[in-house]
Amino acid sequence: MTTALSTKFYSFLLLVLLLIRPLSAAAHLSLSQEEARWLEEHRDTITVGVAVIPPYLSNRVSDNEVEGLSLDYLKLMESALGARFQYQIFASYGSMIEASRQRSVDVVFGITNTEARNDYLNFTSVYSHLSNKIFTQKGRFKRAEMSDFAGKRFAVPRGTALVGYIANNYPEILLVQVGELREAFSLLAAGEVDGVGSYASAGYLYSVLDGIDNISIVGSVGFDYHISFGSRNDQPILNGLLEKALASITFEQKKAIESRWVHPEDSQRVDMDTVIQWLVIAGFSLTMILLLIVIFWNRSLKREVRYRKKIQKEVSFLAYHDELTGAYNRQHMIEVLPEYTGLPSSDDETTCVILLGLDNFSLINEFHGQKMGDYVLRRMSERLQSRLSHDAVLSRTGGDEYTALIRLSANRVSLSHLADRLIAEISLPIAYGDQSFSLTATAGISIQEGELEEPLRLLEQAVLALHEAKKKNPGSHLFYAQEMSEQLLENQQLAEALAVALKTDQFFLEYQPQVKLSNGKVIGFEALARWDHPLLGRIPPDKFILLAEQEGLIVTLGDRVLSLACQQGCQWLKQGLQFQRIAVNVSVKQFVETDFASKVLNVLEQSGLPPEMLELELTESVFLGDRGQAKETMSRLTRLGVCFSIDDFGTGFSSLLYLKELPVSRLKLDQGFIRGITQDNSSLQIVKASLQMGHALNMEVIAEGVESRDEQELLQSLHCEQAQGYLFSRPLPPGQITDERLQQIGDTVLPVTEA
Ligand code: C2E
Ligand code: MG
Ligand code: MG
Repeated sequence: MTTALSTKFYSFLLLVLLLIRPLSAAAHLSLSQEEARWLEEHRDTITVGVAVIPPYLSNRVSDNEVEGLSLDYLKLMESALGARFQYQIFASYGSMIEASRQRSVDVVFGITNTEARNDYLNFTSVYSHLSNKIFTQKGRFKRAEMSDFAGKRFAVPRGTALVGYIANNYPEILLVQVGELREAFSLLAAGEVDGVGSYASAGYLYSVLDGIDNISIVGSVGFDYHISFGSRNDQPILNGLLEKALASITFEQKKAIESRWVHPEDSQRVDMDTVIQWLVIAGFSLTMILLLIVIFWNRSLKREVRYRKKIQKEVSFLAYHDELTGAYNRQHMIEVLPEYTGLPSSDDETTCVILLGLDNFSLINEFHGQKMGDYVLRRMSERLQSRLSHDAVLSRTGGDEYTALIRLSANRVSLSHLADRLIAEISLPIAYGDQSFSLTATAGISIQEGELEEPLRLLEQAVLALHEAKKKNPGSHLFYAQEMSEQLLENQQLAEALAVALKTDQFFLEYQPQVKLSNGKVIGFEALARWDHPLLGRIPPDKFILLAEQEGLIVTLGDRVLSLACQQGCQWLKQGLQFQRIAVNVSVKQFVETDFASKVLNVLEQSGLPPEMLELELTESVFLGDRGQAKETMSRLTRLGVCFSIDDFGTGFSSLLYLKELPVSRLKLDQGFIRGITQDNSSLQIVKASLQMGHALNMEVIAEGVESRDEQELLQSLHCEQAQGYLFSRPLPPGQITDERLQQIGDTVLPVTEA
């Protein structure tokens, strides 16, 4: 007990010491001028919404005070920023989320990043994880999956990300939304619901508090809380500040917070602390009486501890294993990583991480169903395990990602061989029922060189390497390199610049003419976004569009592009310019917004551009999600005259099914295929097949990226009716688009020659 007490006291003391930092701490965060100005103005007015999420994220101390892991983070962040947050404690988690949606608080804690919440919040990095389990009454199930609750009553707290996850993925489950988790467990104990979705620690806290002994954990929900701080997204600068403050928290500080809150035995000892303090304060005369109390209390504690140990045993298996595959989970990887990185490193042996990502795994779930997806994940886990030595640790650290933690020579050749063997193992054919197919995988590798201050960095480096490998060379492996971190930093800086650019109108459009190959007439234009940064100059769209998508800014940017293009189209009409339509690129995130159709109609109405002159370019990825909703949005706009084309056709999953079902009027053949048609037979065959498919479905086909006469002639001989490319014209500023210029462009098109 003395050791436990001193550990507890030590971690508390350490935290207090770490908290005592100069109030002008914001200086060491290297804030931009704009951030520093904003912070100066809002230093004492940032409101933070907090709800009670016991046992350790946040606990109520009194009516207007909460404490816990999140609060310790927030205090360190306040200190780092030199700010004084205004805390608002909400009666329930749901009411906190609602308040953040209404923007009546600036920041909320304990929140998982979901697509829906991106509408009103920005998110910091994750600072804690809670793994969600399925609880049922004892004896009802030995093991259960969420699909077992179809038609059954399943309780979850209102307003949490879990509600959205279950509603979207298991619509047949009868969701019972409760104010607090405690209520969910009482309902379960009383048999009023069939299951509860909750993180494990809440389950056994309420079991102990409410004397519930008839419930147990039977499986994983399949959705974990990755907990960040959220901040209102109409104040994007705030998220940057929170992120910097969070990043300034050191590994030792995080460790001190964790050992103060996360381990359940420690929370028990809080009461022992209090008891010991009382013993000292009350003095020697009360020692005997207090000792009796301590003995009595200790006995009941022992009983409780025995009971909790039993539950904990169950919980700890699930807490460190992935239920689907039986491999270790992410939590386990995070916990063993420091042990491995703490071992001595030499040329002969060091700690390495190989992170393997299955390529396009979502397509298996999409096209073959989740059962098959689960089977594939289990098989891949077995295969990888069989290829690794017994002292390697294999974990499933993401939906389609496995991490192997190994001790090996830092020599890249042996690591390369191992990574290739693992990739090859995954690529072997897999049989399921009467079907057989194969997958590919990509790997990112990181190697520990010397001592590591922050063990998790090794994992982060492997993640960076995997992302880079997926971009550059899917199906292969890549080693982490310092430039990847620099690239990440550069992207973060560019992301900040992007937010500013949107506010200061650094974006404008250029228009690339599209020609009819039979007569050379310019039939329309594709509007292409351009960003001229005052210091960095022109930033290519391939870079900033991706960034805008990652940063949740693509909708704002896309809205701006749409209205600029429609206004320009209308102005050309007034000037008497002859053209049929103007095409605007629409990203998936924009298109899946619930009010997208109304937004487009609004822009058309305000600009005065006739709907039939607007074409929206979608990519095939739009149809990977909810096809029903995509169809509804497209039909609504098509009825009013707006038409749709599929951009970069052939590079996505090119399913005939969606082409047949959806009102698409034009296919845009990707420039990658056009580039090869004159030399490479496979590109030629793809172009031929796409043309046949488009024509059979009554669609026009336009070839993108036509750069040479040979390409043009070949396309004409294949009866491709339209083209766009540098051969005819590069994208032009609107001022250069005149009748004369269009005439010149038309003159570059050769007359049709038959094949
Ligand atoms: P995209 O929609 O496929 O646009 C065609 C791209 O090909 C444009 O690049 C265009 O300049 C380029 N291009 C046209 N003809 C040729 C040619 O003959 N040779 C070569 N090498 N390239 C040619 P850009 O403007 O750099 O845009 C790149 C991508 O950025 C676009 O590809 C589109 O996916 C995205 N993008 C651009 N503007 C927007 C926008 O407003 N919204 C969205 N969501 N995406 C946009
Ligand atoms: Mg396009
Ligand atoms: Mg394209």
